[in-house]
Amino acid sequence: MDLAAFQKATHVLVGNGQQACFWTSDWLGAAPLAAAFPSLYNHSRRKNRTVAAALANDQWIRDLHHGNTSLIVVEYLQLRRQIQQAGLILDSHVPDRIQWTAGGGDCYSARAAYRILFQSRPSTSDDKVIWKSWALGTAKVFSWLMLRNRIWCNDRLQRRGWPNGYFCSLCLRNLESTVHLFWECSFSRQIWATFSVRAGCEEMANFKSPLHSTMQHCLQMIRRTPAGARKGFRSMLILIAWNILKERNACVFRGKMPCQNDVAHAIMLDCDQWRAAGAACLEPPFGVYSAR
Ligand SMILES: [Zn+2]
Repeated sequence: MDLAAFQKATHVLVGNGQQACFWTSDWLGAAPLAAAFPSLYNHSRRKNRTVAAALANDQWIRDLHHGNTSLIVVEYLQLRRQIQQAGLILDSHVPDRIQWTAGGGDCYSARAAYRILFQSRPSTSDDKVIWKSWALGTAKVFSWLMLRNRIWCNDRLQRRGWPNGYFCSLCLRNLESTVHLFWECSFSRQIWATFSVRAGCEEMANFKSPLHSTMQHCLQMIRRTPAGARKGFRSMLILIAWNILKERNACVFRGKMPCQNDVAHAIMLDCDQWRAAGAACLEPPFGVYSAR
């Protein structure tokens, strides 16, 4: 798979032919000869000759001289014609050169390589909600777990029969689940409502029960937010959910009493720091307080 991806992303410019592989390098035509002439490749005794070694005294033809050759005649004639038409002259002073052809300029780029390796992966909305948002790396990873319902809340612990406190430690009323903790909990709802009065954050108060999934809810809120405020909205979404989790963890593991003012204060503090670290999307007019 790696070799196929490499061949797809590169083209070999033959100089002296000492490095390019006759069968598997992409040096003649649109694809490596092994792919363009599979019968010949399978029949050939030597599959790792360099271009120079294969072309010297037509060695690639001698490698085919064995067994039943009637099945490879057509491909043989085609390849022979292709090599003749190419009229390749090896230059002993010029080394072979690998050229990057997968986009992003003439040089290798991780972005282009990644695109080739994962082009068949199913598409998700993670980019829209998390990875293209301005946020701390840890907060992004947390958001990814939250959107997949993989936070270790009491409902998951309970299903596995592991020790848990059952109740949500922020409202002390319901079984704690990801959906409850971040969206249905009266404590968290109040936090979202507090920030929904800020410019660009209005959709945070727009919550319709029952909630099918966190991902769906986040995408709906982002879609309804005006285009100019979406970047800031996505960062705030991650920032607020991240701070709700931190308050929850402080209550569960350090015996803290839940306090909405503490969370709001921590969010504002983080917001200032993210802005100072370069989060231009959080700069005013986004987030300006407006008493409605
Ligand atoms: Zn709760």
